[in-house]
Amino acid sequence: MTKTRIGILGYGNLGRGVELSCRQNDDLELVALFTRRNPASVKPLTEGVAVYSADDLAAHVNDVDVLILCGGSARDLPEQTPAYAGLFNVVDSFDTHANIPAHFANVDAAAKEGGKVAVISAGWDPGMFSLARLYANCILPEGADYTFWGRGVSQGHSDAIRRIEGVADARQYTVPVPAALDSVRAGRNPQLTTREKHTRECFVVAEEGADLAAIEKAIVEMPNYFADYDTTVMFISQEELDRDHAGIPHGGSVIRSGLTGENGEHRHVVEFSLKLDSNPEFTGSVLTACARAAHRLSREGQTGCKTMFDIAPAYLSSKSGEELRAEML
Ligand code: NDP
Repeated sequence: MTKTRIGILGYGNLGRGVELSCRQNDDLELVALFTRRNPASVKPLTEGVAVYSADDLAAHVNDVDVLILCGGSARDLPEQTPAYAGLFNVVDSFDTHANIPAHFANVDAAAKEGGKVAVISAGWDPGMFSLARLYANCILPEGADYTFWGRGVSQGHSDAIRRIEGVADARQYTVPVPAALDSVRAGRNPQLTTREKHTRECFVVAEEGADLAAIEKAIVEMPNYFADYDTTVMFISQEELDRDHAGIPHGGSVIRSGLTGENGEHRHVVEFSLKLDSNPEFTGSVLTACARAAHRLSREGQTGCKTMFDIAPAYLSSKSGEELRAEML
């Protein structure tokens, strides 16, 4: 079997998730990690994997079939993906939904110029949730879409709390409102406000002597992040935070509720749900499947930017068409 040689750029939570996923796929071989930090300071989980400076990436174009970009969506990927899509086949998890069309255009130009394939915005949302929305919309053109997230950790909201004066550490959970979920699952197609869909739970470690009431007020009134939600704030010790909130779970449900029949008398509810113990390990596993597809598309002579919408499902699998038809159809 010819293995797909994987490189990882950026070694945070997601980089480690991709590394662990490579171990579970015999047709993928992790050949190198690249980091913007001092390579000597980055210790991979896997013995023997080389760590190089991101500055040396261009010297490794012949060693890597697909470079998986594991930087952050806010600042890293808008620069890194277009910069490397001309040199390598690449996969990223860019998740700033509103900016996906602009990111696609930038990456598409670079990938076409370099004759490479780039898969952007892979993961679970965007990614597997996007596919669930697309399939259900194709099948049920008359209906309504709902996405519920959680219960899960939002890194962005946790970071926003940590920036408040007097906060030493924090973990924020996004939680779907059970009554809203029940109503959607029952096919009632409710109109839901932001507040009616999700609540936010904040576990906060305060610095000694901090004004707890002021911290709570700053959180629940924070525009864009908390003001539109019912938010609860619980103050706990660092020890409790480390003990009870160290994981990065997430998940949620994409639901489409639609009608068919002569007079729309038949209701159908399509639900795709994920319950993830580790957001980065699951996301990393989606990225490696997309890397396999990117390598295949590249070998077929395709170039340019793709999303998961453009990848035929069988391309994600290490199994042959014959095996898939026998085992999963
Ligand atoms: P991290 O903050 O853990 O890592 C981001 C980058 O920070 C790393 O690639 C790393 O790059 C750099 N970094 C700098 N200092 C350190 C350090 N001390 N330890 C670790 N990393 C460091 O982010 P995540 O890996 O959790 O998430 C990356 C992105 O994945 C998110 O921004 C999000 O947009 C996306 N994502 C997408 C999902 C989807 O469904 N599409 C789901 C989940 C996440 P370097 O090694 O070069 O320094």
